[in-house]
Amino acid sequence: MKPPVPITDFLSNVARFKIIDSTLREGEQFASAYFDTGKKIEIARALDEFGVDYIELTTPVASEQSRKDCEAICKLGLRAKILTHIRCHMDDARVAIETGVDGVSIFLGTSTLLQKHSHGKGMASVTATALKVISFVKSKGVEVRFSSEDSQAYDVVRTLRGVVSCDIEVHFHNDTGCAIGNTYTALEAGATHVDTSVLGIGERNGITPLGGFIGRMVSVAPDYVKSKYDLAKIKKLEDIVADATAVNIPFNNPITGFCAFTHKAGTYASSILAEPATYELINPKDFGMDSYVHFASRLAGGNAINSRAQQLDVTVSEEHVKVMTAAVVKLAAIRPVTIDDVDSIIHAHSRNKLIPS
Ligand SMILES: [Zn+2]
Repeated sequence: MKPPVPITDFLSNVARFKIIDSTLREGEQFASAYFDTGKKIEIARALDEFGVDYIELTTPVASEQSRKDCEAICKLGLRAKILTHIRCHMDDARVAIETGVDGVSIFLGTSTLLQKHSHGKGMASVTATALKVISFVKSKGVEVRFSSEDSQAYDVVRTLRGVVSCDIEVHFHNDTGCAIGNTYTALEAGATHVDTSVLGIGERNGITPLGGFIGRMVSVAPDYVKSKYDLAKIKKLEDIVADATAVNIPFNNPITGFCAFTHKAGTYASSILAEPATYELINPKDFGMDSYVHFASRLAGGNAINSRAQQLDVTVSEEHVKVMTAAVVKLAAIRPVTIDDVDSIIHAHSRNKLIPS
């Protein structure tokens, strides 16, 4: 499969984006998440090793413990910048700055629905408060982002990009499974910063997952992604978060799902054995992994069986491979075949014994 060629567009930031990972803010809103201080520090360090640009933390006004955790993570001296996510209130801004964060994200609903049902304020009042809080944060030398909730991806970003020169951050929930697609589209439209969380954990069914997003981006901007992020660290990060939230990594997870690089049907397997790029958009080696050709099934082909024989150091002729493959397929018609079954068939044949049938 030939990797897709990104559309050349001077507004597109597909090859120059920054990641704001929100596992320790959005992720804390995930149904089964409970991170104590030690776990937060472990996750923050692992995110830093991977290379995310920013780590976003729960607002320090949420609880006394959240404030202490925020201070502790700011003191780790990580390379990633530390952000916290606050309401558009002067009190929240003061507490946040005292914790030592590098930046704050201020959120406030600007949609008509939220004006009516959430904070009950009109746009004039929203704007006045926002300007006051933003200028206070800036006066303290701290980075500031202002987010308006409930926007539409491509059109809004594209329009904004045409009229403002500031950074544009995007944050997508995965209610209909479109978070990675929306994030990618927003980068094409000119967004500069994207929000992710490890395994996509967050409110409801979460947001753009870091691993899947990176899988998408390494296929379109390999040089940029490989030079900035330590891809082999994704597995460790996901294992830490899966364990801490008591969830399993889904079978269909990009990159780390147990069958993400497994090839089963004979024709696919033989193409993969000849040239991995035929069916692998992502190179598993970039992530410290290997592809696996599934040879113990009724769909097994001669190339897969031959490759297994080579792994076992058994040299066989083309004719032998045909007989062995037929034996595997015959056995698989009766019952599920295990790797051991295939290995016995190969060994039995190599020792000139009868092939079990
Ligand atoms: Zn969210």
